[in-house]
Amino acid sequence: MNSNYVPACAVWELTLACNLGCLHCGSTAGGRRAAELSPAEALALCDDLKSAGCRGVALMGGEPLLRPDFFAIASRVRELGMELSVITNGTIHSEEIFAGLRELRPRAVAVSLDAADPALHDRIRGMRGAFEKASGFIARCLSEGLPVSVITTVHKLNIKELPALRGLLKGRGIAWQVQTAGGEGGRFSREFLLDKEEFYAVGLFVEACRREFTPEELPVIGAHDLGYHSGLLKNVALYEKWEGCQAGISVAGIRSDGGVMGCLAMNDENYVEGNVRVSSFREIWNRPGGFAYSRGFKKEDAGPNCAGCPELETCRGGCSEMSLMKTGRLHNDPYCFRSIEEYLPELKPAGWRGALNGLAGPEVFRRLGRFFSGGRGGEQAK
Ligand code: SF4
Ligand code: SF4
Repeated sequence: MNSNYVPACAVWELTLACNLGCLHCGSTAGGRRAAELSPAEALALCDDLKSAGCRGVALMGGEPLLRPDFFAIASRVRELGMELSVITNGTIHSEEIFAGLRELRPRAVAVSLDAADPALHDRIRGMRGAFEKASGFIARCLSEGLPVSVITTVHKLNIKELPALRGLLKGRGIAWQVQTAGGEGGRFSREFLLDKEEFYAVGLFVEACRREFTPEELPVIGAHDLGYHSGLLKNVALYEKWEGCQAGISVAGIRSDGGVMGCLAMNDENYVEGNVRVSSFREIWNRPGGFAYSRGFKKEDAGPNCAGCPELETCRGGCSEMSLMKTGRLHNDPYCFRSIEEYLPELKPAGWRGALNGLAGPEVFRRLGRFFSGGRGGEQAK
């Protein structure tokens, strides 16, 4: 029996093994999980995903290229007609890898780049020379004609790098996804998480880039969970409209030990819905009552941050991961743009609102530009 939900995209952690030790890594990757799926199990899972109606698969890690059967799995995904994205730290290079990627005709090869300053990127990523390697990986992918994107994960250590990264990426045909760090990882001190103003400033930065550059010059998006229902900003994500957390609705996360979740970012055993070693992905996805926190949402489930919000019915209380991380419960995201705009006094004056709506940019970005350019208390223009 099929549920009414189609898994448009499965985000699959192929392995938790990683050659880096990134500070903000939400899954504290490094070593493999004890019971990683075998090559045969991984290939069977590809078939299983297809039979569940999955349209696209994003292979990530850890570092997915460390899995010796990476290309066998990725090829199977493509042979089955599913779209393929690969998310890599860009530090593992070989002729075989670039030739293999070219052959796969992926929808995207996404490389993590957290700073334009090589030393800072290396510090965040936990490897000397990581910046140089990732930059070389990006350049080689571009020369191979691969669709390259860069993912930047923002926290207090690198928020000021955004303008320099913009300079590094613009005009090169690189899609740029800006996302914010969560606090689940064991190497990341929560003191580095963005506060509400900084989080909003990242949204403003994305908006500013979109106003300044055409999509051809700099295709930039915020991650799908970067703020929503703003009264001032367009949706900074790829989609026109935020339709609530898609965990278990149109998105699935699969751990390298076969655990199936709505979203890997939630990184909590309580949200593992089953394991493909016990039941097929298709059965888990279609199980009546599955993914209850998403599919079975009722207005009464909302926490105090969201109760009474006019957007609640479709929003369902924002990003589940952010809500859990910040408040310890679901449907209670304190970081949506709608509620931040209520909270930030400097967004209240009509003049401010008018300036933004009128695309007058400079004044707006001068005010919040301090987040990118220097001291939080100063008024330095960007
Ligand atoms: S207050 Fe909650 S329900 Fe309303 S828009 Fe924000 S996250 Fe969504
Ligand atoms: S938990 Fe957050 S990151 Fe995950 S699917 Fe939901 S909105 Fe997206």
